[in-house]
Amino acid sequence: MSFFYFSVCHVCKKESPTLKKCSKCKLVHYCSQEHQRQDWRTHKDICKVISETNTPLTFSGEGPIEFDKFKIITGALWHLRLGRRFSVSELEMWMFPKVCGVCYKGSMNMVCTTCWSVAYCSDTHRIVHEKQHAEFCQKLKLCLEIHQKMFNQEPEWERMRFDFSKSVVTLPGSICDVVKIMEFKSDVDFWKKAVNLIPMTEFFCSAVNVVYALEKSKFVEKRFAKKTQLVIHATTTEFYKNMSWRVLMEFLSHWILNLQGVRIYVISPGVDKEECLEFTLSCDAGRKKQFNSSVMFLQRKYHEFISTIPRPDLVVMFNRSLPKVGTVEWSETTSKLLAYKNAFIILTSYTMEGLKSSVGKFPPPWVTYLKPQENLYGSLRPVRNGKEGSDPVVYCNKFVSIIAKK
Ligand SMILES: [Zn+2]
Ligand SMILES: [Zn+2]
Ligand SMILES: [Zn+2]
Ligand SMILES: [Zn+2]
Ligand SMILES: [Zn+2]
Repeated sequence: MSFFYFSVCHVCKKESPTLKKCSKCKLVHYCSQEHQRQDWRTHKDICKVISETNTPLTFSGEGPIEFDKFKIITGALWHLRLGRRFSVSELEMWMFPKVCGVCYKGSMNMVCTTCWSVAYCSDTHRIVHEKQHAEFCQKLKLCLEIHQKMFNQEPEWERMRFDFSKSVVTLPGSICDVVKIMEFKSDVDFWKKAVNLIPMTEFFCSAVNVVYALEKSKFVEKRFAKKTQLVIHATTTEFYKNMSWRVLMEFLSHWILNLQGVRIYVISPGVDKEECLEFTLSCDAGRKKQFNSSVMFLQRKYHEFISTIPRPDLVVMFNRSLPKVGTVEWSETTSKLLAYKNAFIILTSYTMEGLKSSVGKFPPPWVTYLKPQENLYGSLRPVRNGKEGSDPVVYCNKFVSIIAKK
């Protein structure tokens, strides 16, 4: 997966203090002319757009709030000119430009050579930022290392098998321990390296949280489910975009011993294309069970569609997936969900504040079954946060709550 840092060559992703910037857009950097030439075909569209409009590098205002506003306008302008969606690395060019971490002025040459993620206009501003940055420097460093590792090699989970020992009857107490019980790597030294373990926690996070909610709601006990077919509603685009559906199905089928099928409905206006994916598991255990599973993607608003699909055993709302606060749609969603007895909803968020506001949208007779708290099974992978004036790294599914209608 490609990514963008101002401090790494955009082609080979190696960090260096002496990269040459693209003379047109001044945003993208390369280690050599050779790599610049190699990238031109991909880069030229966005390069033209950037050099013909203003860029985050031309900011002349003051403070994080103004810089954020400036970025939003710039992003909208780029988008309009480009006439298509940004690729991930194009989006990151806009989110993480090389500007001073203190005054947001562009064209800096002083870069933190530990994390390669912050730049300064002067030594004075580096010192001003020192204490604040120290808290996050190592996390930002890990963030870059994981990007580089994932860029360069096939991820471990491609080789992963899901043979959980039957003696494990409930989820281990942390996401790391869950990952470690998957029997594909007993090498202790491998797990000691954060750069190996942490990406796994992100990758398995959604699957583990689904199981967590099923165990909390007693739908699954001692790895046996009350029903052999499971229906899940997912109302979030993020769940849809970052998910490896095969992994989720494998995980569920191996963890829940009597489970024979899973049907997931992903319902959101953010879905790109309406389609249905069918999964058959290729492992012996999956074939023996005749496990069948499908994911149906619906480009709809959840509240408009909820009554036409099978009732859920679990509703998944990961990472701020709620409709905007105070809209009519939202109260319609909660009232339609009320029609289901024993409906359980798992909600997660990057922030406690965001989570509490989501949970607040479910008035009685909804009850908070698991009060908003830090998630034992949240992702441990630091993700850069493009919003100025808040923590520079955040974590997916960091806070969790489960609500139910009893
Ligand atoms: Zn290079
Ligand atoms: Zn350029
Ligand atoms: Zn500065
Ligand atoms: Zn640093
Ligand atoms: Zn399997």
